[in-house]
Amino acid sequence: MLVLRLLNVVAPAYFLCISLVTFVLQIFLFIPSMFRDPSTTPLFSPALLHGALFLFLSANALGNYILVIQSSPEELGKGLNLGEGAEMVADWLDGSRSPGSALPSTHYCRLCARVTQRHDHHCFFTGNCIGSRNMRNFIMFCLYTSLACLDSLVAGMAYISASLSMSFANPLAFLTLLPHSISQFFSGALLSSEMFVILMLYLWLGIGLACAGFCCHQLLLILRGQTRYQVRKGMVVRARPWRENLREVFGKRWLLGLLIPMLNVGSDCRRQKVK
Ligand SMILES: [Zn+2]
Repeated sequence: MLVLRLLNVVAPAYFLCISLVTFVLQIFLFIPSMFRDPSTTPLFSPALLHGALFLFLSANALGNYILVIQSSPEELGKGLNLGEGAEMVADWLDGSRSPGSALPSTHYCRLCARVTQRHDHHCFFTGNCIGSRNMRNFIMFCLYTSLACLDSLVAGMAYISASLSMSFANPLAFLTLLPHSISQFFSGALLSSEMFVILMLYLWLGIGLACAGFCCHQLLLILRGQTRYQVRKGMVVRARPWRENLREVFGKRWLLGLLIPMLNVGSDCRRQKVK
């Protein structure tokens, strides 16, 4: 439990550090290096377009990250008078204290110390449980983090390609980049800043692929109308049309909500004002 509590603090700190490093590298290294290209026009230059794209992706990733934490799942035990102590409420709701009493998909998270409805999983990177209220923002967070990592990977490769005069046309060039760079770094032929960017390239690739995979997995579960908790517990869910399942998570305008993330932020603000 102590390890999990520690992970609950370390993982968000790790995410914020990586975000800060990515932001600094993009703003102070990658984007200024694109301005040095004399063949480009000042207006609509790749540097400006890339800067605008990166700011859009990172603002959406961080905005949804904050919304996941803000819209954490409701505490079910609050409104129920089942005796003192959250764990007792949890046992009742989970069905372990009184078989047959369980509410569908409720789960007591010992890290968050609360019972949540339509529980999916506990996310260590946000330090919160993912449930019915923040699932939409969580998927958006995964999607935009993955896109921001991909964007940083491409910008980083362009920077390394220009500064080391190398080409990534051959796919093997990326695979052999790390061992070559390590040997060059220890022989003094590579700057520490360039070595750092090369290490970040692999980190962005790893985080980007992990987030994209996670996002696809969550979307597949939503289309089936399932949560990860239900799959783990082997719970049978009522079959419904996939559009209905999407509407439950992304709202009535689910397609627009997926394409225009700001629409979700607006509807979240309105929902909070109504409360
Ligand atoms: Zn939790």
